[in-house]
Amino acid sequence: MADERRRYLAQQIELGGAEVILGLPQAPKLGEPVPAERPGESMPAERPAGDAPKWKKGAPSIPGPGIAVTSPEPVLLSNDLASLPTLDAVAERIRTTYCCELCPHRTNAVPGEGNPQARLVLVGEGPGATEDATGRPFVGQAGQLLESILDAIEVPRTSVYITNIVKCRPPQNRKPLPDEIAACIPYLHRQLELIHPKVILAMGGTAAESLLGVKKSLGDLRGKVHTYNGIPLIVTYHPAALLRNPNWKKPTWDDVRIARQLLDR
Ligand code: URA
Repeated sequence: MADERRRYLAQQIELGGAEVILGLPQAPKLGEPVPAERPGESMPAERPAGDAPKWKKGAPSIPGPGIAVTSPEPVLLSNDLASLPTLDAVAERIRTTYCCELCPHRTNAVPGEGNPQARLVLVGEGPGATEDATGRPFVGQAGQLLESILDAIEVPRTSVYITNIVKCRPPQNRKPLPDEIAACIPYLHRQLELIHPKVILAMGGTAAESLLGVKKSLGDLRGKVHTYNGIPLIVTYHPAALLRNPNWKKPTWDDVRIARQLLDR
C-alpha cells in the first residue's frame, strides 16, 4: 500500500502536469483529501526553487522549421480593418457587422478575449453553443480542458489572448465553410497584427490550415515550428477533439510544451 502511494506521488511529479490533460488522477487540490499516508512514509521533497518547472520534465525538444507565411497586406483586406487601432475597435466592428451567412443567425458574435499584450495567442475554429450564448471564446467543456492545459504549463488564461477563425457559430457546430472563413479571417489577421504575440498556437485543422493557407492533415502540420509573419506557430489538436479521443492528449501535451518553450526563448 505504501508502494502504491509512493508510485502515485511519483507519477504526479514525473508527468510534469500531464495528469491534467491525460486524465490521470490529479494532485489533490487544497482542502481535498489526499490518498492515505502510511505511518513512517514521508512525502517527496518539494521542488527546490530554481529547479526546472514540472511541465518541462520529458518535454520534447523544439522541432525544426515548417511553413512560413505572411498575412495579406492590409491594403488587400476587403475593408478598412487596417485602420482599426485597437482590439476593442476590431471587436466592436465584428459585433456590428455581418460579413457572411453565419452572422444573421448568431446570438452573440465572439470576437475573442484576453490580454492585448499577450505573448501567446490561441486560435480555435469557431464558437460553439456556450460561446454563442455568452459572446466569450472557449467557455464550454472544451474551454475548461483548455484552461487545465494552460494551468499545466503555468500560463494563466488571463495572460493569453484566445480567439477563433470565424467569430460566429456555425449551425450545429459544423466546420466553417471556405467562404465563411475567407470573409472572417481578415479580423484575425488584424488581431494578430495588433497583438504581435511571441507564439501562436493553432488548435485543430481549421485553425492550422486557415492560418497557414494550406490543405494538409494535422499529422503533417504538427511537430514543426511554422511561422506567421515571422511569429512561431505551433499546430496541435483542438481541445474538443481531445474530449472525443483521449489518445490525442499525449501528443497535445507535447505540442503545448513546445509552444511553452518557445515563449521562454
Ligand atoms: N471551439 C472553438 O473552436 N472555439 C470556441 O470558442 C469554443 C469551442
